[in-house]
Amino acid sequence: MLRFNGLTKKYGKFYALDNFQAELENGIYALLGPNGAGKSTLMNILVGLTAQTSGEILFNGRNTEQMGEEFRAKIGYMPQYPGFYPEFTAMELMRYMADMKCCPRKQRDERCLELLESVNLTEQRDKKIRTFSGGMRQRLGLAQALINKPEILVLDEPTAGLDPKERVRFRNMVRKLSEQMTVIFCTHIVSDIETIAKEVILIHHGKLIQQGSIPMLIEEMQGKVWELIPNADELEKLLEQYPRSSLVSRNMQTVIRIVNDEKPHNDAYACEPVLEDVYLYQFGDDSV
Ligand code: ADP
Ligand code: MG
Repeated sequence: MLRFNGLTKKYGKFYALDNFQAELENGIYALLGPNGAGKSTLMNILVGLTAQTSGEILFNGRNTEQMGEEFRAKIGYMPQYPGFYPEFTAMELMRYMADMKCCPRKQRDERCLELLESVNLTEQRDKKIRTFSGGMRQRLGLAQALINKPEILVLDEPTAGLDPKERVRFRNMVRKLSEQMTVIFCTHIVSDIETIAKEVILIHHGKLIQQGSIPMLIEEMQGKVWELIPNADELEKLLEQYPRSSLVSRNMQTVIRIVNDEKPHNDAYACEPVLEDVYLYQFGDDSV
């Protein structure tokens, strides 16, 4: 079990993390929040790349800083901006990472090949990384994160640069992996995690906003999601008045969907909430 205990990270007077608090067990945890929320900062502290200003992380009750190398050996990390060596081939990168993580030499090549196979890069194993597409790079990023058979897999915005088909593939790979490890999937894209996350941790301005299963988060939105067929002269005003709103198409008609505690308009009707509404409710109003 992993526990973030009052984690705070200050850059000067700015709080990138502000007394962040959460508990994780097995399965896929989505760390969901807009850009700048503090997701990467939290993950950088977890993997030991950044030091917190205060607070601690506990793994099965033990302080991860004190565990040091013993804890790092349990982590697989796919960074948001992987700085892979472009002149390395896929196989060379895997060997390099294996050596960094002190994998036994004897099994090294076998393990590297097995992982490249699992992300479907066997044919490209001797190609230079600089020739790789975004999707191939992300798959290689996943393979290298798995080299030490981690107990905790950290994926920081892993679907950036993937096309819709590659996103689906990536999600399926992660779902499979989560049978064997805890996965922390950082993203600002709801659809990346809505079919796979066991729990969603909402983060904003460095603070924990909400944590729960997807059905639970959606249930709390009952009675807060409305739709309305607007008159042409009302549309602009409604969009301005309700920043937590979006335009959707229903039966060829443009409908305004509004997330709001109270009924926003006489003609509005209540709708079944979805996870996207939770995101809009918590993060939709940029002025907050
Ligand atoms: P996210 O990954 O959720 O997009 P980050 O953790 O990268 O958010 O950033 C959180 C906040 O901390 C942002 O406002 C960002 O500008 C700020 N920040 C991150 N790293 C630094 C740094 N090295 N120096 C100053 N501010 C930083
Ligand atoms: Mg980030």
